[in-house]
Amino acid sequence: MNKFDWIVVGGGITGAALAYELANQGVSVLLLERDATLRGASRYGYGGIAYWAGTTELTRQLCAEGIAIHRSLTDELESDPEFRELDLVLTVPPDADIPAIAQAYQAFAIPPQYVERQPACELEPLLNPEAIAGAFTVKHGHVNLRKLVEAYRQAFINRGGTLEIETATAVLKGDRKQVQGIQGRQNTYFAENVAICTGALTRLFLRQAGIVIPQYFTHAELIETPPLEIKLRSLVMPAETQRLQLEARASQAEIDSLWDHPGHEPVSPILDAGAVQFLDGRMRLGQISRALTDPFAPIDAAASETAIRTQVGAILPALQDVPGTWHHCLIAFSRDSLPLIGPIADWENLHLFSGFSNPLAIVPALARRFAKQAAIAKIDPLLKQLSPNRFG
Ligand SMILES: Cc1cc2nc3c(=O)[nH]c(=O)nc-3n(C[C@H](O)[C@H](O)[C@H](O)COP(=O)(O)OP(=O)(O)OC[C@H]3O[C@@H](n4cnc5c(N)ncnc54)[C@H](O)[C@@H]3O)c2cc1C
Repeated sequence: MNKFDWIVVGGGITGAALAYELANQGVSVLLLERDATLRGASRYGYGGIAYWAGTTELTRQLCAEGIAIHRSLTDELESDPEFRELDLVLTVPPDADIPAIAQAYQAFAIPPQYVERQPACELEPLLNPEAIAGAFTVKHGHVNLRKLVEAYRQAFINRGGTLEIETATAVLKGDRKQVQGIQGRQNTYFAENVAICTGALTRLFLRQAGIVIPQYFTHAELIETPPLEIKLRSLVMPAETQRLQLEARASQAEIDSLWDHPGHEPVSPILDAGAVQFLDGRMRLGQISRALTDPFAPIDAAASETAIRTQVGAILPALQDVPGTWHHCLIAFSRDSLPLIGPIADWENLHLFSGFSNPLAIVPALARRFAKQAAIAKIDPLLKQLSPNRFG
C-alpha cells in the first residue's frame, strides 16, 4: 500500500501552490484534481494581485511576502506566468462621494490616489469621460492565472510530486478522529495528512463527511473574448466594488444554515463593471456575482451577457460589442474575507486551505508558510489567526 505524507485535493491555484510548496519541503505529495482541463475559478479569474490592499498587520505582511514571491516565481518555477505590474484604474461615477471613498482607501497599505477625469482617461484611453468623475489609481500586480497554475503544477511534478486526474468522493475516516486518506472515483489513496483545496465546493465536499465549515460561494459570470486588436492598458474596476458587500451580507451567522440547502438566494445579485486584457490580446469583461446556495442553479446566460455588455460598455464603450463568450464559475468566500487554513476542529490531520475569494496577493505566501509549518511541526502564529475554527 502506497502511503503519501500529504494528499492535496483540488488543483486550482490554492491546491497547486500548496502541493508545490509541500513537495519543496521534501515530503511525498499526491495532488488529486478532478478535471484534466482547468474549469474552476482559477480558469476564469482576472489575475489581479492586490498587494497594495492589506488593511491589518496580518494582511499587510502577507501581501508584502506574496508580492515578493510573485516577483521571483518565473525564475523559481522555470516557467513564465506573465507576471507584470500595471495601472489599476478604479472608476468613480459622476455622483459619487469622492472624499468618502478616499477616506476608506486610507486603510490600505498603499492607498490608491485620486485623479480627475482627464488624467484618468490618459491612464486608460478606452474610458468614457462622460461616465466618470475621475478614478482612483494604484500599481497592481497581474498574472495569467491559468499559466500560473500550470507553472506550479509542473514545478510540483519536477520536485517529485504525483498528480492524478481523479475525483475525490469521500474522506476516509479512521479511529479517534484521524483521517486515513481519500476515496477517489477510481482508487483509494492513503496519507498521513489531507489538505482540502476544492475552492467553492469545499463545504459541499466536507458535508458528506459530516463536517460543516463556515464557507460559502458566489456564482461568478463573465465574458471572455478571443485575442483583440483593441488595447486596454490598465485593469479597470469600480472604485466601490459591490462583491465584498455581497459576501459580507450573504455569510452572516444567522443565515449560515441556508447554505446547506439549495434553492436560496439570501442577497440580490450585483455587477461590478470591469475589464482586463491578457498579453495575448484576450480580454475578460465582468463580473456578475450571485449568492445562490445551489452550486448547480440554472442561470439565464443571455440576460447576464446583455447586462455585462451594457454596464461595461457604459464605462468602456469600445468593448460593448466585442466578440466574446459568456462563462460561469463558482468562487469561495468566508465570513471575514480571510481564508480558512489549518486543521478542522478536532480532526488534526484533516486540513483546510480554502475560502479564498481574492487570493492572488496572499496564496503564495500562505502556501509557503503552511508547508514550512508542516515540515518543522511548529505552529506559525500568523497561520493560527486563519484557523477554520476561529468563528467558534
Ligand atoms: C471573473 C473573476 C475575476 C477574478 N479576479 C480576481 C483577481 O483579480 N484577483 C484575485 O486574487 N482573485 C480573483 N478572482 C478569484 C480567484 O480567481 C479565485 O478565488 C481562485 O482562482 C480560487 O482558487 P481555488 O484553488 O480556491 O479554486 P478553484 O480554482 O475553483 O480550484 C478548485 C479545484 O478543485 C477541483 N475539485 C473540486 N472538487 C474536487 C473533487 N471532489 N476532487 C478533485 N478535485 C476537485 C476543481 O476541479 C478545481 O480545479 C476572480 C475570479 C473570477 C471568476
